[in-house]
Amino acid sequence: MYHKRASEKIRIVIVGGGFGGLSVLNGLSNTIDPRKHEVILIDARPEFIHLPATLRLTVSDADDLITHAMHPYGEHTFRNKLAGNAKYIHGSITDIKFGEKEDRGVVVLDSGEDVHYDILVLATGSIWPRSIYLPTESRKTIEEFIKTRREEYAKASDILLVGGGAVGIELAGELRDLSLSKNITILHRGKQLLNSTYSERYRIGHQQQLESRNITVITGDSLTKSDASKIFEDHFTETELVTEKGRKLKVDLVIPTWGARPNTSYLPPNLLSSTGYVQVLPTLQLPGHPNIFALGDIIDWDEQKSARKAANVQAPKVQANIIEYLQLAEAAGESSGVVDLAASRKSAKYAGGTEMSIITNGKV
Ligand SMILES: Cc1cc2nc3c(=O)[nH]c(=O)nc-3n(C[C@H](O)[C@H](O)[C@H](O)COP(=O)(O)OP(=O)(O)OC[C@H]3O[C@@H](n4cnc5c(N)ncnc54)[C@H](O)[C@@H]3O)c2cc1C
Repeated sequence: MYHKRASEKIRIVIVGGGFGGLSVLNGLSNTIDPRKHEVILIDARPEFIHLPATLRLTVSDADDLITHAMHPYGEHTFRNKLAGNAKYIHGSITDIKFGEKEDRGVVVLDSGEDVHYDILVLATGSIWPRSIYLPTESRKTIEEFIKTRREEYAKASDILLVGGGAVGIELAGELRDLSLSKNITILHRGKQLLNSTYSERYRIGHQQQLESRNITVITGDSLTKSDASKIFEDHFTETELVTEKGRKLKVDLVIPTWGARPNTSYLPPNLLSSTGYVQVLPTLQLPGHPNIFALGDIIDWDEQKSARKAANVQAPKVQANIIEYLQLAEAAGESSGVVDLAASRKSAKYAGGTEMSIITNGKV
């Protein structure tokens, strides 16, 4: 049981204010008692970024997404009554010092600052390859990144997108909207676009839609191992690539659109899967750390990661479980050991979300 100091509020720290973390924060703001609880949001970026919009955002100025898809953290994102109580810290967490059982722990920021928590929510999302992963430092660095990407795309004539998942497909569509004259190719290792979560009909349908916009789709082939690792570097200068199957591709811009990894380097390996995902119980608590919850892209759950699942399916469960946890802890007092949320009939259990996906092809 965490030890609440008489004079202090119980502190809920949410790390990562993306789709999962921000939804937990906004949900909690309707339910917790600001006289007893305080909420701190920590995010590496100064702004909430609507990731599904970032492909159009980085390709062109269509729809003025710099204004509409990025929102500074602050009152704008803290809805309703919690607004005055929630605090936002701009910083990246690099380490967690766990408390004994459910005692207060500490998250350590890259600035060296320690932030104590009673309850911790981890929702730090994925790290994407360089052309897709927006910087963290400031609004200025994010805008410079967007400007550089737009210039790169505008200048290129022969663009190769490596990876035919949702991101590759959507980026191809945005690039076709940008220009009818560019040669755009998707190279995908699998026999069909996307993966086996989706029906064959759906996968073939996407290929046909892309081809109808004069986008070349190559499936069942891949880059050589050596080229595949080079394209993740900042300055890839090859102008001709030969695929594993011997196809020659003329390129002046190569964009990796696969290779997302969970953003979990601040956690010790014993809490992670072999691929770096955070192990969680169905209550979305970390095993052995009942006062720590995780959700979104970082959790070790065999499913397609999505904003919808993080925000609409997992966040309400984390929010409900935090409320239940607080109630159980209050009812139990300070001396009764660990709060067993899993045993509570009121606890919310995650059992996966429906697999559905809407993949755009530019504005078509
Ligand atoms: C280009 C692109 C297009 C997409 N399109 C779609 C789509 O159309 N539909 C859909 O459902 N999903 C889409 N997704 C996936 C979707 O965006 C993610 O599944 C979703 O954002 C996951 O939510 P999350 O809360 O786990 O992480 P995120 O929303 O990524 O939020 C993570 C937050 O954590 C912060 N953070 C990271 N590390 C740290 C740290 N160490 N310390 C502090 N803060 C940290 C980040 O700055 C970020 O704000 C897309 C993703 C991308 C990249």
